[in-house]
Amino acid sequence: MSAPEAPSFHPVEKRPRQPVKIRWQIALGFGVFTLAIVILLWAFQIALLGPFYQAIKTAEVKNTAELIQRRLEDSDLDIRVKKFSNDLGINILVTDELGTQYSAWKPTQRECLLENMTRSDLRAIFNEVNLQGGRKLTTYTSPFTYQDGTCPEVILYAEIARTASGWNRMILIESEITPVDATVETLQVQLICVTAVMIALGGLLAYFIARSISRPVAAVNEAAKELAKGNYEIRFAEGGSREVSELAQTLNYAAEELSKVEGLRRELLANVSHDLRTPLTMIQGYAEVMRDLPGENTPENVQIIIEETERLTSLVNDLLDLSRLESGVVALDKTRFDLTESIRAILRRYDKLADYSFPFEAGEDVFVTADELKISQVVYNLINNAITYAGEDKTVTLRQTVENGRVRISVSDTGEGIPQDKLKDIWERYYKVDKEHKRAQVGTGLGLSIVRNILELHGGAYGVESEEGKGSTFWFELPC
Ligand code: ADP
Repeated sequence: MSAPEAPSFHPVEKRPRQPVKIRWQIALGFGVFTLAIVILLWAFQIALLGPFYQAIKTAEVKNTAELIQRRLEDSDLDIRVKKFSNDLGINILVTDELGTQYSAWKPTQRECLLENMTRSDLRAIFNEVNLQGGRKLTTYTSPFTYQDGTCPEVILYAEIARTASGWNRMILIESEITPVDATVETLQVQLICVTAVMIALGGLLAYFIARSISRPVAAVNEAAKELAKGNYEIRFAEGGSREVSELAQTLNYAAEELSKVEGLRRELLANVSHDLRTPLTMIQGYAEVMRDLPGENTPENVQIIIEETERLTSLVNDLLDLSRLESGVVALDKTRFDLTESIRAILRRYDKLADYSFPFEAGEDVFVTADELKISQVVYNLINNAITYAGEDKTVTLRQTVENGRVRISVSDTGEGIPQDKLKDIWERYYKVDKEHKRAQVGTGLGLSIVRNILELHGGAYGVESEEGKGSTFWFELPC
């Protein structure tokens, strides 16, 4: 006998809930809002109409009794009673404890309870009200039917008052509290119309508002997908509301920056591979010649190989330096040292370059607290650049000035200078003003970027002034 097959359980894959589209969210919001208003309207106008009407009528009746009470001995009591009765559609009767009627009025032909009361009825009511403290409100269903056969709800209000001359009077007011059917019907028809108009208007409004909000968002979303795919040329339409417009501006900025970074990345790859390949080709070429041709194994050729290796080393070092500086892992080894002396020491190393002169105009020695090695790197980079771009006079002038507790070191050459519109860019990585023609002799375009990073780490200021054809002055400042 085979064992019953075990039920197989598949893990239920929970699918992430798809968020609702903004358009539907807005439509839903509008729908709920419209529904709430319609419900409120119906509730107040239809369901609560009866209680409202009753409350208003009751207040009206009590108020009228109060007003009549003040005029009980006036000669125009009858006129007053008639007026109140006609204005408010209520039946009024003024009597005393014996059932004598002083004034009575009903505004319609409809039969009512008051007119059917006998003296003894009135006396009984007087006594009852008197026992209850002088006021009584009763609600009852009228025994007299409407034309349509229904009987209205009625309130009967009785209030006993004493006149100025000391007589007792009872004011009796009878009022229907069932809203007239015609009124309810009119209201219902009106409400149906209002509801239909509101639903139609709400729907239309929801549609247009949702469209005006969701369209620009959807457009930005589509463009953002393109951006995510790597299309950095995409531009976002800055339409719609302010938030969407700002989002589009931000994304446009991001796209431009990404596009720049992408450009730089490509350039870097081209530069680095070119700069690595050139010395490597030279080294390989010379090494092969020296291996194959015995006569070529000369000190000059070995020197070329050594120089090319140095180039490679400096390129790789620059790359490493910069990536370390930019990643923020470099800790400064700050000490107090003699900056002036440190520069003099650097300049002594350039003594070998007999063609060049390096005048250094400095006053007293200045001490700074900084990372000596890194500041030397800055000075080296600036001097090397100045040598590379030096003018005919082959002079690189260094100056040290002190002002407001800060020392400024400047390195000037009289070379070709830098175009004004390029002055900002030269501090960027891999940037070279003249890409083609100096490539062979010049570095990688990383030097000034390293300078900038080191000075920023020290919180020091830096800058350049340059005039094309006249030369450039690079400077930096440190607190001293
Ligand atoms: P590079 O290794 O190419 O010198 P840098 O970052 O040091 O890289 O300099 C960037 C660019 O700035 C150089 O390619 C050059 O065009 C320009 N530059 C730097 N220093 C000078 C200078 N003293 N005179 C003229 N141009 C300069």
